[in-house]
Amino acid sequence: MGEKRESLLQEKGETMNEQTKDLVIIGGGPAGLSAAIYAQRSLLDAVTLEREALGGQVILTSEIDNYPGLPHTDGFTLSDAMRAQAEDLGASIVMDPVSGLSRDAATGRFLVTASAARYDAASVILAAGAQPRRAGFEGEERFAGHGVSYCATCDGMFYRGKQVFVIGGGNSAAEEALFLARLASRVTLVVRKDHLRAQTALVRELEANERVEIRLLTSIVSVGGGELPSSIEFRDNASGETHVETYDEGSFGIFVLAGRVPETGLLRGLVELDESGYAVTDERMATEVPGLFVAGDARRKPLRQIVTAASDGAVAATSAAAYLGLPVEG
Ligand SMILES: Cc1cc2nc3c(=O)[nH]c(=O)nc-3n(C[C@H](O)[C@H](O)[C@H](O)COP(=O)(O)OP(=O)(O)OC[C@H]3O[C@@H](n4cnc5c(N)ncnc54)[C@H](O)[C@@H]3O)c2cc1C
Repeated sequence: MGEKRESLLQEKGETMNEQTKDLVIIGGGPAGLSAAIYAQRSLLDAVTLEREALGGQVILTSEIDNYPGLPHTDGFTLSDAMRAQAEDLGASIVMDPVSGLSRDAATGRFLVTASAARYDAASVILAAGAQPRRAGFEGEERFAGHGVSYCATCDGMFYRGKQVFVIGGGNSAAEEALFLARLASRVTLVVRKDHLRAQTALVRELEANERVEIRLLTSIVSVGGGELPSSIEFRDNASGETHVETYDEGSFGIFVLAGRVPETGLLRGLVELDESGYAVTDERMATEVPGLFVAGDARRKPLRQIVTAASDGAVAATSAAAYLGLPVEG
């Protein structure tokens, strides 16, 4: 492909730290690493750029029980295996944060600006994921992954028969609280305001569930403990008064289900984002911009998990190969 195509960078007369690629993959989580594997198999000249740590959100989780074929694994083992598989196939993975993405309307090529290099790319897959919105209480960072969770689907089963506190009042918090009520002995929904924002039908279901308690006008101020949490300080948002409840260490969990923030800032102005900031794609992971694909948690989809991110990455790389007129996996 490389010889005949026009280089956006050459046109601009730029030479230093500049590379021309068939495909730039932004993000080295499961979606990005899966895309890297499929890009290699389609013989694309591709690079994967990662900002912080390969594996993405996966490395935040110490136990993964729902990735087919790999029961009882942990985030580090799984993401390291994905990285090793991609690199064994010859994938180029570079630790370099991407700060800019633009498209030349005349050539249809992309300019991807990272810290150490700039890339003139024929196609781009954004696989930058999403971040769980933090609740902001004291102790949240310390206990993240050790008593404080951001994903009921992922971690709910570790609290089977235990008490859980759920922070959030929207639809997903209500749905996940109901899911947790099937596993936990008790679910306490902690809601900052004087009402839940969730749909009425969900609120009724919560109110009718014997295992669910709803504490309105309540916030968690801090969580304390040793290796695992053993106390929670609550604030009554009407009176401003606080009180501390203590439990056996490790006997409860806190689920922060206050929504997610998609990492789609690079796409702003380029492609359609939904009201929550997720990129809108078709089933080939294509955006409305030819050659620009989005895979994984950053796109609008019904289930954000490792298995769906990996699937998205495979589809996106295959779609990129088809866009470039290269043979794709059958
Ligand atoms: C605490 C927790 C536990 C979870 N447990 C499970 C579980 O048990 N099972 C399960 O299936 N799912 C689980 N999930 C969900 C799962 O981790 C995600 O669905 C999955 O990681 C999404 O993959 P992704 O590649 O789309 O995004 P991410 O994993 O978010 O990866 C995106 C990557 O892109 C990088 N990036 C972002 N912006 C840039 C940039 N500008 N330049 C370069 N790189 C960038 C990020 O640093 C990150 O590494 C869990 C999530 C959390 C938060």
